[in-house]
Amino acid sequence: MIIVILGTPGSGKGTQARRLAERGNIIQLSTGDMLRAEVARGSDLGLKVKKIMESGDLVSDDIILDMIAERIGRDDCRNGFILDGFPRTTPQAEALDGMLAERGLTIDHVFELETDDDILVERISGRFTCAACGALYHDRLNPPRVTEVCDECGGATFNRRADDNAETVRQRLLAYHEQTAPVLAYYHDKGALRGIDGMAGIDQVTGQLNEITG
Ligand code: AMP
Repeated sequence: MIIVILGTPGSGKGTQARRLAERGNIIQLSTGDMLRAEVARGSDLGLKVKKIMESGDLVSDDIILDMIAERIGRDDCRNGFILDGFPRTTPQAEALDGMLAERGLTIDHVFELETDDDILVERISGRFTCAACGALYHDRLNPPRVTEVCDECGGATFNRRADDNAETVRQRLLAYHEQTAPVLAYYHDKGALRGIDGMAGIDQVTGQLNEITG
């Protein structure tokens, strides 16, 4: 199964993609996570994208498309994958269709998590991730059951993203409305886009997605 999950920063894409991937036994491919891993490794690619990510702008289509083309060709994607944070521009969406067509694949579901921009800064500024397993938390909305202990792996080290600050969030939202909104139109025109109420609670959103994906 191939799923695309779209939505602004803070709409819950990462959380829901992780749950869908676990449930469907498919791989979660987050271009943001892949880029952050490059930055953490200090690779040439990481050095190239670090500043752009910190500013809240989008990384060039060429870089993203090379990364995705390589990643979806790997064995662990044979069962399917869920794309989280990609495609973010119309050229990315068109290129994805081309890449999948070459492999005889098509997208099964395209979801948009619909949210109001005014709640996003709050959602984003409280979030953090387990450094060991990547589980996602929020200070108020989704804290670990035991303070400072990851529910999933027991890890006790957490990371907060460098770009999760109010100023960068505004730029990321702008990038979304200017460059990613046309991607919504692209899938809408194909009759593929399914809107999901991203303002609902985390478990309710998961319930809706599970119902649709079966
Ligand atoms: P995310 O984790 O999806 O919020 O992505 C974090 C940052 O990585 C974004 O603000 C962009 O700078 C970059 N990024 C992630 N995915 C893409 C993409 N598909 N196209 C361009 N830039 C991306």
